[in-house]
Order: sequence, then structure tokens, then C-alpha cells
Amino acid sequence: MYFADEPEHISVLRDVVRRFVATEMPPDQVRQWDRDHRFPPELFQKLAELGVCGVTIDEEYGGQGRDLVAAIAVIEELSRGGAFAAGPFIHAAFYGGMNISENGSEEQKRTLLPKLAAGEILFAYGLSEPDVGGDLASVTTTARRSEDGKHLILDGFKRWCTGADWADYIYCLVRSYAEAPRYQNLSFVLVPRDTPGMRVHPIEHANLRYTLSSDVIFEGAKIPAENIVGGEAGWNRGWRMLAGKALDVEKLEITAVAFGIAQAAVEEAWEYAQQRKQFGVPISAHQAVRHDLVEARTKLEACRAMLYRGAWLAQEGRPCSVETSMAKLFVADTGVEIALLCQRVMGAYGLAEGHDMERHVRDLLGMPIVGGSSNMQKNNIANGLGLKGAKS
Ligand SMILES: Cc1cc2nc3c(=O)[nH]c(=O)nc-3n(C[C@H](O)[C@H](O)[C@H](O)COP(=O)(O)OP(=O)(O)OC[C@H]3O[C@@H](n4cnc5c(N)ncnc54)[C@H](O)[C@@H]3O)c2cc1C
Repeated sequence: MYFADEPEHISVLRDVVRRFVATEMPPDQVRQWDRDHRFPPELFQKLAELGVCGVTIDEEYGGQGRDLVAAIAVIEELSRGGAFAAGPFIHAAFYGGMNISENGSEEQKRTLLPKLAAGEILFAYGLSEPDVGGDLASVTTTARRSEDGKHLILDGFKRWCTGADWADYIYCLVRSYAEAPRYQNLSFVLVPRDTPGMRVHPIEHANLRYTLSSDVIFEGAKIPAENIVGGEAGWNRGWRMLAGKALDVEKLEITAVAFGIAQAAVEEAWEYAQQRKQFGVPISAHQAVRHDLVEARTKLEACRAMLYRGAWLAQEGRPCSVETSMAKLFVADTGVEIALLCQRVMGAYGLAEGHDMERHVRDLLGMPIVGGSSNMQKNNIANGLGLKGAKS
């Protein structure tokens, strides 16, 4: 693991992505996307042309070879410009590339991974439901086989399905065998966009407005049986897929978004404090403001160390469920502290149009909830470390 210089190929990649953000994501445009609350497909198209979407995919399936540290660096750099490119990148490289690489059948890998690596298709995540948040083993959306066995029929209700209106497939967690014990009755299926019997209703929300999140209602929605993730061998093995290696990495991807946005918040407050004058001096000359700024920067460095340690462990294939939960917990919660410190430095302008800070605050406030809440990470850590007293 490195503590000073990162590998050269990652520095080069960072520079490429940084230039992309500077050129393609000017602040006024980003603020307009945020107001519109819509997915900018043209931005993702340009990002895909850089060839970065295959960074989680093996070369034999058309990717650049799995490099999780590089993938996390891409998310970090994109997120400094907001979630507008980082979000869709995650839909391609992680929801799609990572999950199909880990869990897909050979045929699914051959068909889907080259398209995901090229950014030609995108996935959405269908886990949450109206009555199911952290307790994902309790999902109630069902998938049953058609009489001829060639199809699956889906009934149920998914909530917060980000990108359901444009994703090519929803990577959807369903209850596949109601009578089987908890954890053995779940499967993942790929639901194509515009499947008959599926309706999508957008939800307005304040954070991560790179696209809409949606309610998705399945009423006898019919999909081919080949769309069981992992093929027939994947039927009723959904929990293993969810709680396996892919989850460790999934925790890191949202952690990287939080870190990138927190970095943008610190940079904005740092710059602002040196421009804004009160009592005849830049506010950065007032000790209390200086202290807020260096406190934010110090917390940011701790976040960096937690995030990249987790990414390195995951890339090395070492056990890292505890470390990735610690990283998600620490960076998400610290990201909120950083957001509030930086917003305070900017006074009223930290909540006003014309600056990015108010968006950073909205985005960071949601981080301890999305992608597995801070409490759920604490539960994982306590269980992973064998702390007595856990429920079975
Ligand atoms: C902008 C946005 C985008 C999203 N995108 C997606 C998506 O694409 N796909 C998807 O499937 N979901 C998505 N989600 C949903 C997100 O993953 C959930 O909000 C998250 O998992 C938490 O679920 P919940 O909000 O229902 O909270 P709940 O699970 O109801 O929890 C509420 C509170 O209770 C606490 N709590 C619950 N159980 C325990 C426990 N056992 N121990 C201690 N504390 C507990 C939680 O920590 C939390 O503080 C998105 C959410 C948002 C806001």
C-alpha cells in the first residue's frame, strides 16, 4: 500500500479525468443540471469515450483489467465536479461491470461486459422497497416461473431505483422462493427497460440530483428466464451475491463519491475565505475561520486514508468487509461534518444560488443513509469483529 506517491498509471488517469471535469462540467452547467434534476446522457457519452468504464472489467471481456484503486480514483475526481458524471460511471462500472463480473453466468459476461466497458449500456439498482431499507433480506417483490418455465413473472414494488427511467437493465433483488428460509429465498434478475407490466414513477429528492430516483411497480412483468443473474445456478443465491465481495466494493464506491464532494466543499470554502473580506481583512485571517478550514482539511486527509486503504485491500483480494464498512461509516459521517464546517465558513453564501456549497451540503447530508446507513455499517463492523450480543 502506498502512502506518498500513487502508482503512475493512476496519476495519469486522474489527470485525464480532472481535465474532463474542467472542460465538460463547468460550474454553471452543473448548477443547471442540478436544477433540472435530469440525467445528462451527452456528458456520460463523452466520459465513456475516454475508455474509463472498463476499469472494473477483465480484459478478456473487453475491459481494461480490474483495478479498484483506479476505479475509486475516477469516482473521486468525477465527484469533485458533482455527482453528474460519477453517478452514471458507477451505474456502468459497478452496478453493471462489477456485479456481472462477480456474479454473471459466462454467457452474461460475454454479452454484457463488453457493452458495459464501452459505456454502451447502463444498469440501475433495484434493492429498496417502500417497506424495506436496510433489511434487504426482507424484500417482497416476487419472481415466479411461467408455466412453460421460459419466463419469470415479477410482482411487487421497488423504491428509490435511481436511473430506472433510462437504465438498460435494473439489477433487481427479488424473492424467488417464498417458502425457503431467510437468505436462501432471494435471487437477482435483470429487468430490461420498458418491460411490459413495469411502471416507473419519479420521486423528487434533494440530494444526488444527477438523475431521478423512481418507484418501480411490477404487475405481472414478464422477463426471459435467462435473465436470472448467474443463470440457473444463480436461482435462490441472491443473498450470497449481495453480501459477497461486490458489497465490499459497493460500500467503497459511494464512499468515494462522498470523499470527492467533501473535497470540492473544502476547496470552495478555502478559496472563498481568502477572497471574502470582513473587518478589513480576508475572513481567512480570523483565527476561528482558519481553524474551521484546517479542521476540514485534516478530516479530509483521514477520509482519504480510510477510503484508499479499503480500495487497496479489495483490489488485493484480502478480506475487507470490516475495513470497507469502517471507511463508509467514517467518510460519510465525516463528510457531513466537513460540509457543515465549510458551509459555515461561507456564511449565507454557503446556502445560496450561484455557489456550489449548498449542493455539496445537500449531497453530503444523504451520505450516511444511501448505500447502507451508518448504523448498518456499525452493525457490520461489530458483527465482523465478533462483538458478543448480535441477533442471529
Ligand atoms: C438519492 C437516493 C438514491 C437512492 N438510490 C437507490 C438505488 O438506486 N437503489 C436502491 O435500491 N436504493 C436506493 N436508495 C435507497 C437507499 O439505499 C436507502 O435509503 C438506504 O438503504 C436506507 O434505507 P431507508 O432509507 O429505508 O432507511 P431504513 O432502513 O428505514 O432506516 C431508517 C433509520 O433506521 C436505522 N436503522 C434501521 N435498521 C437498523 C438496525 N438494525 N440497527 C440500527 N439502526 C437501524 C437506519 O440506520 C436509519 O438511520 C437511494 C436513496 C436515496 C436518498
